[in-house]
Amino acid sequence: MKEYAIAVLEGDGIGPEIMREAVKVLEAVSAKAGVRFNLLKMPFGGQAYFNYGHAFPGETIAACDKADAILKGPIGLGVEEARRIPVEKQPERSALLPLRKRYNTFANYRPVYLPPELADFSPLKREIVKDGIDFVMIRELIGGLYFGGKEEGTDQNGLRYVKETLEYDEQEIAQILEVAFEEARRRKKVLHNVHKSNVLMSSVLWNDVSREIAVQYPDVEVRHVIVDAAAAALVLNPRQFDVMVMENMFGDILSDLAGGLVGSLGLMPSACVGPEKAYYEPAHGSAPDIAGRGIANPYSMIGSVALMLEKSFGMEEEAGRIWAAMRRVFAEGATTADLGNPDGTRTVVSTAEFGDRVVAALDA
Ligand code: NAD
Repeated sequence: MKEYAIAVLEGDGIGPEIMREAVKVLEAVSAKAGVRFNLLKMPFGGQAYFNYGHAFPGETIAACDKADAILKGPIGLGVEEARRIPVEKQPERSALLPLRKRYNTFANYRPVYLPPELADFSPLKREIVKDGIDFVMIRELIGGLYFGGKEEGTDQNGLRYVKETLEYDEQEIAQILEVAFEEARRRKKVLHNVHKSNVLMSSVLWNDVSREIAVQYPDVEVRHVIVDAAAAALVLNPRQFDVMVMENMFGDILSDLAGGLVGSLGLMPSACVGPEKAYYEPAHGSAPDIAGRGIANPYSMIGSVALMLEKSFGMEEEAGRIWAAMRRVFAEGATTADLGNPDGTRTVVSTAEFGDRVVAALDA
C-alpha cells in the first residue's frame, strides 16, 4: 500500500474547525484509494506561540522537513490578541513567511471557481456571472515587498520613518512566469500578466522577462494589464480571465478580491509549490470574527486537500472526485452561513455538516 506522510498544521481561529472536515474527507479518500496517509498533527501559529513560545516550533519544522506534503490551516490572531505578542514573533512574520522561505514555495496557485449553477453566490449582477467564474491566479510567494529588507528609525528631523524594499531578480521572476505559462498552456492559452510598470521599476524588469519567456510559448497569448485596471476588470468582467500571474503583494490583494467575486473567501483554496516540497492552505485568514461557532465554510480547506492530492501525490482522479462531491453538496441545495441563502431555497449547514455531506457525496 502506498503511504504518504502529511504534516497537519491546524493553525488558529477557524483553522481547527475546517481542518477537522478536511481530514474527514482525506480519510474517506484514503479508504477508497487504498493509500495510507500518516498525519502528523503539529503546532503552528499564534496558539503555538502561546503554548510553546514559538509560532513555528522546532518539532514542527522537523515534522515538515520529513513530510511528503504539508496541509496548513489559516493562522493569525485578532488585533487585540496579536498585541500580546512582540511584533517580530507574531505568527505571520515568525511562522508563515519562514515556512514559505524554508521550502522555497514560490508558486502559489489560487483557483477561483464558481460553476454556473452556483452563480447566485456571487454578489455580481446575474448577467455578468450567469456562465460561472473559472480562472486561476498565480501569485509569486517568496519575494517582493513582503520579504525585502526592512528598516525603521527616527530621521534627522525627529520624525519616525519606515523603509521596506521591493526586490526581485530576473531568475525569481522567470521561475514564476514559467509556472504561469505552463498553466496557461494546459488551459485556454491566454495569460494575463499583471504589473505596474508605469510606476514600479520591478514591474519593468518583470515585463521584460515576460517577453523573453514568451518566445518559448508561441502558443500562449500574453495580455499585459496594469494592476489597478485589473482590479476593476475582475469585477466588471471576470470571465475574460483564465490564468493571471502577478508579484506577491498584488496577488495577496487581488486574490481576496477574487474571493469576493465568488461570494466568500471560504471558497478559496490554494497550493504553495516549491521545487521539492509543497504546502496547501486556504487563501484566507483565521477569521477570528466567526471562530468557535461551527459556521466556517470548510470548502477552502477541503479544496486544499484536493490540490494536494493532485499536485503532490499525482492522485488527479481522487482530487476530481472531491471537487465533484463539493459541487454536488451545493447543487443539492446546501449552503454555508458565509454564502447566505441567496434564493431562499437553500439549507444552511454547519462546518461539520458540510464535511459530512461531502463524505456522503464521495460515497454516492
Ligand atoms: P480573514 O481572511 O481571516 O477574514 C476575512 C473575512 O472573511 C471575515 O469576515 C471572515 O469571517 C471571512 N472568512 C474567511 N474565511 C472564511 C471561511 N472559511 N468561512 C466563512 N467566512 C470566512 O481576514 P482577517 O480577518 O483580515 O485576518 C484574520 C487573521 O488571519 C489575521 O491575523 C491575518 O494576518 C491572518 N491571515 C492569515 C493568512 C494565512 O494563514 N495564510 C492569510 C490571510 C490572513
